[in-house]
Amino acid sequence: MSKMMRAQVIEKPGKMVLKQVPVPLISDDEILIKVKVCGICGTDGKIFSGEYAAEYLPMTSGHEFWGVVEKAGKNAQGLKVGERVSADICLPCGSCYFCRRGEGLLCKTFTQLGIHTDGAFAEYVKAPWKNCYKIPDEVDIIEEVMKITDGIGADYVLEAVGKTETYEQAFKMVRRGGVVEAFGVGRQRKNGSI
Ligand SMILES: [Zn+2]
Ligand SMILES: [Zn+2]
Repeated sequence: MSKMMRAQVIEKPGKMVLKQVPVPLISDDEILIKVKVCGICGTDGKIFSGEYAAEYLPMTSGHEFWGVVEKAGKNAQGLKVGERVSADICLPCGSCYFCRRGEGLLCKTFTQLGIHTDGAFAEYVKAPWKNCYKIPDEVDIIEEVMKITDGIGADYVLEAVGKTETYEQAFKMVRRGGVVEAFGVGRQRKNGSI
């Protein structure tokens, strides 16, 4: 019998249930991750309400996570059991016209982990090893960007959190004349801050 785990499954729009489901089985090209933290994104709310990706229900959402490697497929390179990782959730097919041009975001069968496939509101989640990134013990972000850009700053900074602090960091690490993309959605407070 498969090993079981707890997962927060959206069974249909408006109905989410904490239940026992099988731990995902991984292929040789995948990593099994023991989830430590999973943030709640605005998209999770839209999946729960049925506004987005309702045709993929029932499923476990959760796509903003990190965890530790529990098991690695035999083709996985550079990742060891116990290491801290997060994952790029984009799952392009890798073989269509757009993927072969390096334009995976335009893939005709593009899906995302935790939005169209089972995600990280569970004890374990699986992801292709090529999507996984090791997380160092500490990340001092502005100093690091300045160090690797010889003190110039990044050409392009994408802010994807939506908080005052992270927007301030974005402007401190972008180069003169660079671009800050405002992707994170903040909630406006009464004093005008986010
Ligand atoms: Zn998100
Ligand atoms: Zn494709």
